[in-house]
Amino acid sequence: MRTTTQPGLADNYGRVATDLRVSLTDRCNLRCTYCMPEEGLDWLAKPELLTDDEIVRLVTVAVTRLGVDEIRFTGGEPLLRRGLVGIVDRTTALEPRPQVSLTTNGIGLARQAEALAAAGLDRVNVSLDTIRPDTFQQLTRRDRLKDVLAGLEAAQAAGLTPVKVNAVLMRGLNDDQAPELLQFCLDHGYELRFIEQMPLDAQHGWNRATMVTADEILALLGDRFGLAPTDAAARGSAPAESFTVQGGPQTVGIIASVTRPFCGDCDRVRLTADGQVRDCLFARTESDLRTALRDGASDEDLADRWRKAMRGKLPGHGIADPSFLQPARPMSAIGG
Ligand code: SAM
Ligand code: SF4
Repeated sequence: MRTTTQPGLADNYGRVATDLRVSLTDRCNLRCTYCMPEEGLDWLAKPELLTDDEIVRLVTVAVTRLGVDEIRFTGGEPLLRRGLVGIVDRTTALEPRPQVSLTTNGIGLARQAEALAAAGLDRVNVSLDTIRPDTFQQLTRRDRLKDVLAGLEAAQAAGLTPVKVNAVLMRGLNDDQAPELLQFCLDHGYELRFIEQMPLDAQHGWNRATMVTADEILALLGDRFGLAPTDAAARGSAPAESFTVQGGPQTVGIIASVTRPFCGDCDRVRLTADGQVRDCLFARTESDLRTALRDGASDEDLADRWRKAMRGKLPGHGIADPSFLQPARPMSAIGG
């Protein structure tokens, strides 16, 4: 295959992807209502999943040939992947050394945090939408709040800092709990970020009219916590708008993917657990790297396919367009 002249993962709108999200599994031990139906989903079959070696091979191509300098392992629930520590270990050994982080629901993190830190993991984001056991049960359909809280503590003790907490607010379920969640995170030194609910749930239950918006979250918290925007220039391509609490130094973030999209600054690309490149969370097409990989493609062939995959990246997610269609793959199978 002929090599293109473009070295990195550039798209046709001048953006260059340097931040790779790798989904390690589509399975999960929670059933968050904004993500998955109660009965779960038809999980990917084992032969479809990339092996640990295949994941490391593609991550190596991304880091050594395509300019990717940040890797985030996610899922589904990445702590369910048995080879996780080994994958992290091999990723942090790459040159140039990428930043390596994990997005997890925190269940099992208490057991694995030290081994992950020893393997070189830099940071974790733990998803936690409530600190009330009954609301946790309602939201995730599982009684595992204690495990998540233990996971958060273990991550901090292991130095996987700053420990970030991701929260989604659901109207009538936990939106009234935003202040207590923020207070909890401030008290424990966790950095909280609220994420607007996006139309990526398998059961297509998202509704623009009822989702909790960034403006509402700010109204809920602003006065009580004295929120003030941090320097907008410092945000760069980071999706979270950051606010200082009572003059700082602690902050809270809001990721307003729906009401204040940041697609123009996007530097992300995704690899699914079955080896498909997705240039956007909301992409309706994917590029298959697994087949080429298993057919014996060279590293440069794979890099070239990956570069080409980025060319079709659209300028924006188009959620507000009347013609918007949700992608076939739900969030848990894409890698959030
Ligand atoms: N299981 C891990 C976890 O929950 O952190 C990693 C995968 S999960 C899909 C990644 C993130 O996506 C979580 O913070 C979760 O809250 C968020 N998420 C899932 N569905 C969402 C949706 N429909 N809208 C916004 N965020 C969502
Ligand atoms: Fe599982 Fe994460 Fe989806 Fe919740 S958000 S069901 S923890 S994949």
